[in-house]
Amino acid sequence: MKTPLVEMDGDEMTRILWKMIKDELLLPFIDLKTEYYDLGLKHRNETDDKVTTESAQAAKKYGVAVKCATITPNAERVAEYKLKEMWKSPNGTIRAILDGTVFRTPIVVKGIEPCVRNWERPITLARHAYGDVYKNTEIRVNKPGKAELLFTAKDGTQTRELIHEFTGPGILQGIHNTEASIRSFAKSCFNYALDTRQDLWFGTKDTISKKYDHCFKDIFQAVFEAECREAFEKAGITYFYTLIDDAVARVMKSKGGFIWACKNYDGDVMSDMISSAFGSLAMMTSVLVSPDGVYEYEAAHGTVQRHYYKYLAGEETSTNSVATIFAWTGALRKRGELDKLPSLCEFADKLEKATIGTIESGRMTKDLALISSLQNVTVLNSEEFIREIRSTLEASLS
Ligand code: NAP
Ligand code: MG
Repeated sequence: MKTPLVEMDGDEMTRILWKMIKDELLLPFIDLKTEYYDLGLKHRNETDDKVTTESAQAAKKYGVAVKCATITPNAERVAEYKLKEMWKSPNGTIRAILDGTVFRTPIVVKGIEPCVRNWERPITLARHAYGDVYKNTEIRVNKPGKAELLFTAKDGTQTRELIHEFTGPGILQGIHNTEASIRSFAKSCFNYALDTRQDLWFGTKDTISKKYDHCFKDIFQAVFEAECREAFEKAGITYFYTLIDDAVARVMKSKGGFIWACKNYDGDVMSDMISSAFGSLAMMTSVLVSPDGVYEYEAAHGTVQRHYYKYLAGEETSTNSVATIFAWTGALRKRGELDKLPSLCEFADKLEKATIGTIESGRMTKDLALISSLQNVTVLNSEEFIREIRSTLEASLS
């Protein structure tokens, strides 16, 4: 390796898996270079959460990061870890600094078939993570009256629109978005489509929302025409815009193998639909891509707290490490591409193949055994599973 990966360590069971993956699957095979940041809750607390900001800045500097799942503190965690404060979600902090879009992709293996029979390839979901109903203002109306939308510009001029004349009780909601955020979202989506050579789909309700949703449609089209059309043609991929309801219908009938960009709410709802239909959250990878091309890879699941407490009690665990392994391979492959190190990309490919091969040969963790259609499945514990992947990998390398 030439440039180090920014390594963001995390919490609980995924922290245990993190070390096992490094010891068994990475360090024996590659000259791993990382710049290490400990985002474990204890260390975040000791550093007043500065370590999270520093790790995001390092990601900006080097371009590629790999992150372990981390605890987002709530009241219980404040007591459990004797925290000075209820620190913010590390993912939220990192996303705010990198200003990116999160892409989630299921890892498809034989024996775990998607509920939708015609899905042959993974569907990657890209969710816009700013504004709309997630940053709304609401009023509950309890008497008759006039509701208006009012914008007062810096220069004092006002724009006013009637929302509704209430004759009785009702409800009101104000939402917004910014052109800058929508443009970043569009750029991240187009770049990621080019990067992974997949078509990009996008849908909104622009026929009903003629200004709000239409603005999303127009910005995507403008970015595409100005910066991406040629590159898309060269790569042999397409950008496809349709109404959100038409998109949903087509997704269900598709074979998969594309990126589906969604507005914030659509993405929230549809990502749960996609991940559960493909099988398991433990088989879902996640990458944050910033508009200027910084990549942060992680698993989509959390720290698997329940398994960690069993582990602490000395009991056996069978925690699935696939999504965390794929976070590492995603980051290593990207580093390899940027630094022109084909052997590093090849190693990432081989480790992914070994992981999938191990599962397809019937050796897997309990969560997968429960949903696998394979006969003769062997349920392995957390360590055994990683060691089996190692032996598959060694066989493929020799
Ligand atoms: P979780 O860690 O995703 O686990 C929820 C349940 O899903 C587990 O109890 C387990 O079910 C199953 N599961 C998830 N990942 C698995 C894996 N790799 N292998 C096997 N089973 C798996 O969610 P959580 O328990 O709600 O959250 C725990 C902590 O994670 C919280 O503190 C939360 O803040 C944090 N979190 C972090 C991130 C992130 O860093 N990106 C994302 C989400 C949550 P069974 O117990 O039935 O086996
Ligand atoms: Mg959701």
